[in-house]
Amino acid sequence: MKTDREKTTPRFNKENCIACAMCVDICPSGVLELQIANSIHGFRRFPRLTDAENCTGCFSCEKECPTGSITMAA
Ligand code: SF4
Ligand code: SF4
Repeated sequence: MKTDREKTTPRFNKENCIACAMCVDICPSGVLELQIANSIHGFRRFPRLTDAENCTGCFSCEKECPTGSITMAA
C-alpha cells in the first residue's frame, strides 16, 4: 500500500486531450469529471481531478487515455 507521500495523481495535457471522457468513465474511484476550461483551443471540456484525497493512484486513467494526455505525478 502506498502512502500519500508516494501516491501519484493524474496531470492532464489540455493540448492533446480530445474530451472523450474515457478517463472519467474508467476511474474506479469516481474522482474525475469533465469541466469547461480555457486552453489554446479556446473554451472546451477537460478532465479534472475532483478529489485528490480519494484518487488511489491506480494508473487506470493514464492507461485508458487514447491520446496520451495523462501523466501521473506526485
Ligand atoms: S489514478 Fe485511478 S483513482 Fe486516480 S484518477 Fe486515475 S483512474 Fe481515478
Ligand atoms: S481519456 Fe485522455 S483524451 Fe479522453 S478526456 Fe481523458 S485525458 Fe482527455
